[in-house]
Amino acid sequence: MASFSCSRVKTGLCVAPGARQLCLRKGLLYGFMRLLSMPFKTLHLASRSLRVTQFCSVSNMSSSLQIELVPCLRDNYAYLLHDMDTGTVGVVDPSEAVPVIDALSRKNRNLTYILNTHHHHDHTGGNMELKARYGAKVIGSGIDKDSIPGIDIALNDGDKWMFAGHEVHVIETPGHTRGHISFYFPGSGAIFTGDTLFSLSCGKLFEGTPEQMHSSLQKIMSLPEDTHVYCGHEYTLSNSKFALSIEPKNEELQAYAAIVAQLRSKGVPTIPTTLKMEKLCNPFLRTSSMEIRQSLGIPETANDLEALGVIRQAKDNF
Ligand SMILES: [Zn+2]
Repeated sequence: MASFSCSRVKTGLCVAPGARQLCLRKGLLYGFMRLLSMPFKTLHLASRSLRVTQFCSVSNMSSSLQIELVPCLRDNYAYLLHDMDTGTVGVVDPSEAVPVIDALSRKNRNLTYILNTHHHHDHTGGNMELKARYGAKVIGSGIDKDSIPGIDIALNDGDKWMFAGHEVHVIETPGHTRGHISFYFPGSGAIFTGDTLFSLSCGKLFEGTPEQMHSSLQKIMSLPEDTHVYCGHEYTLSNSKFALSIEPKNEELQAYAAIVAQLRSKGVPTIPTTLKMEKLCNPFLRTSSMEIRQSLGIPETANDLEALGVIRQAKDNF
């Protein structure tokens, strides 16, 4: 589709090399939004003509921060953060070291920081090897400091930390784990939500309650709706099946699910998503939807917390 061509190069926001890849990835996302405004029949035709010829793993913001997806394990994403001005590099949630080392080596880059959203092994498994190899500092939640391998800097809710001139807001987002945090980069309009908010779902409640998860999601949803969401897993396709099963008449969801299926059939990531998209389609952010409540037998009198608990339970059993 013509609209997927690299118009951002002309604005100077994309950087060579790899500009074509950078732009294809972003172009796809902008394409989503355009497609979503089309009637569904038009969308169906449009999606049939969508041909993704390249895997585009790098996103570029209007700030000097580049974000690169690094697929790890079966369905995890680590994210490389690269400040173009200083060359500083960080990685968010390295499940394992090798794919991160490969991505760094390809561009001959060093690693200064490792950021962990929570202590689970599929988010911290690469910490020690990367720390030993590059001397990188490990940053994580103060609450989880005893369970994050190699932690050097413990941060807590409301802390502001600087990554090479980019302000990073630490937001406690418990529910999946007790000490889960999200990293928000307001200057780049990006948030790393680990296993709290996924596209079309939220994390399982291993150490927390529906109340904590609800409050964590509310905090994230209070950010600008054009914020890009970088989550810990590529779960979007299976999440879309559950979401459609309980809210089949949601047209935005139908359209998004069709695009997600198309992208995944080509092996293209569905991440980042945006808060706007999630607000329209993610059942865990739509606890007041009458259709969802009717599908799951949630009474009108139930509050949002109760509804979230029921939706989570239904998803666990889906
Ligand atoms: Zn986890």
